[in-house]
Amino acid sequence: MKYDVVIVGAGLAGIIFAERFANLKDKKVLIIDKRNHIGGNLYDYYNYEGILIHKYGPHIFRTDKRDVWDYLGKFTDWHYYQHSVVANVKGFQVPFPINLDTYNILFNTNLSQEEFQSKLDGYKFTDDPKNAEEAVVNQVGHYLYETFFKAYTIKQWGTDPKELHADTVSRVPVRTDKESRYFYHKYQGLPLLGYTDMMMSMIDSKNISIMLNTDYKDIIDGVEFDELIYTGPLDYYFDYELGELDYRSLIFEERTFEQESFQSHSVVNYPNNYDYTRITEYKKLTGQKHHKTTVHFEYPMEHNEANEPYYPILNERNKILKNKYLEKARTLNNITFIGRLAEYRYYAMDEIVESALDSFNKKFNR
Ligand code: FAD
Ligand code: UDP
Repeated sequence: MKYDVVIVGAGLAGIIFAERFANLKDKKVLIIDKRNHIGGNLYDYYNYEGILIHKYGPHIFRTDKRDVWDYLGKFTDWHYYQHSVVANVKGFQVPFPINLDTYNILFNTNLSQEEFQSKLDGYKFTDDPKNAEEAVVNQVGHYLYETFFKAYTIKQWGTDPKELHADTVSRVPVRTDKESRYFYHKYQGLPLLGYTDMMMSMIDSKNISIMLNTDYKDIIDGVEFDELIYTGPLDYYFDYELGELDYRSLIFEERTFEQESFQSHSVVNYPNNYDYTRITEYKKLTGQKHHKTTVHFEYPMEHNEANEPYYPILNERNKILKNKYLEKARTLNNITFIGRLAEYRYYAMDEIVESALDSFNKKFNR
């Protein structure tokens, strides 16, 4: 069978390319995914109790870019939702990221914003933190680092924060005011009927065929195509010839309770106690009404054949290896490597939308 474009991966990156090629360029597209569903890590579904949950962990969409928001808005209405998280530390549930209230509750003080700021200024010792520990201590000092970050990061990454790049923690801010939203972005929400529904609308075209439960390597030799869009793992494409890139994995323990509500917030972080890092209660994200409630206990794990690659691990070895693979990738014709696996990069969803649209426009829509 001949297609204009083959897309490996039915995640957000792959589906955006499929939508653009099919609707804008009238191209025949085949999407291949080795999982039994579309949506990649955004996949959500109604569990046996009828509660909408995210299979691969909580996903909250946010962006500052109107065009990114509007692009997805062509395929979904929004459930407007502002994310806020609390951390369970020292017998308190306090706002996280750390803000003025977090500090005052924990220390039983009544500091003003200026006083808190001057405390934080006193912790700063470098303009160039060398690792994740330095990045946090530089912002909040040793005590708050030990309380909120050290054990959580060791659980999350299975390694000492000193071994991790400063960027690992840099997306978590510290606020001197009482702002308790996790994200500042102008546009925030979840697709009203879920991510899977939104992505089904994106690929609702006679030009698009989908093959699930299929590793592309098993069939690609028998398919004719002009362009390949690859969103699978970078090292796998090259048969690991330079070595394997490391990932951190997660396991989600799903539990449903015979009660309407389980916890105060959609996400509660547990930095120090327990093996899990956080508990997510989905109804509090999606706004669904139901007399029961489903939560995920999130356990970080080593990545192996049995579990999914979730987070690229930001250290020197992986950075060098990734760059070598990307160099090889650049020498290939008619193939685009894009997305969190194919670029071995932590990408939030809005960054994927921006990057995929940008790449499509530059390469295929001039
Ligand atoms: P993916 O969604 O991983 O899609 C890649 C697809 O390729 C997969 O479906 C996979 O099965 C398929 N594939 C791989 N190998 C093969 C093969 N050999 N053959 C065929 N198919 C293959 N971002 C946010 O903006 N907000 C959030 O709240 C948020 N929360 C997150 C929480 C967690 C726990 C994690 C891990 C990430 C979170 N993200 C969040 C990031 C978000 O998940 C990514 O931006 C997004 O999934 C990237 O899409 P993608 O298409 O690049 O990759
Ligand atoms: N982090 C932490 N304590 C927390 C939350 C986050 O130490 O309560 C650190 C941890 O290393 C984590 C990083 O900050 O990997 C980034 O946090 P974020 O909430 O952005 O992680 P994600 O949502 O991607 O899991």
